[in-house]
Amino acid sequence: MANSATPTGVFAVQCPNPRCRKYMLVEDHDRGNVVPCLLCKTAIRVGGAPAKDAAATPRS
Ligand SMILES: [Zn+2]
Repeated sequence: MANSATPTGVFAVQCPNPRCRKYMLVEDHDRGNVVPCLLCKTAIRVGGAPAKDAAATPRS
């Protein structure tokens, strides 16, 4: 990600759905939350590593 124009406190997350992969901007206070993808409604874990296997770790 080479986008230096991103405002402070906002960062990008990528939809984990392999058929979607949309990048969305979320605000820093959403870190640690799960937000729905705007396109496919897949739950996206904000912050940390991408949730490849959501059922594996209830909390980290
Ligand atoms: Zn999506």
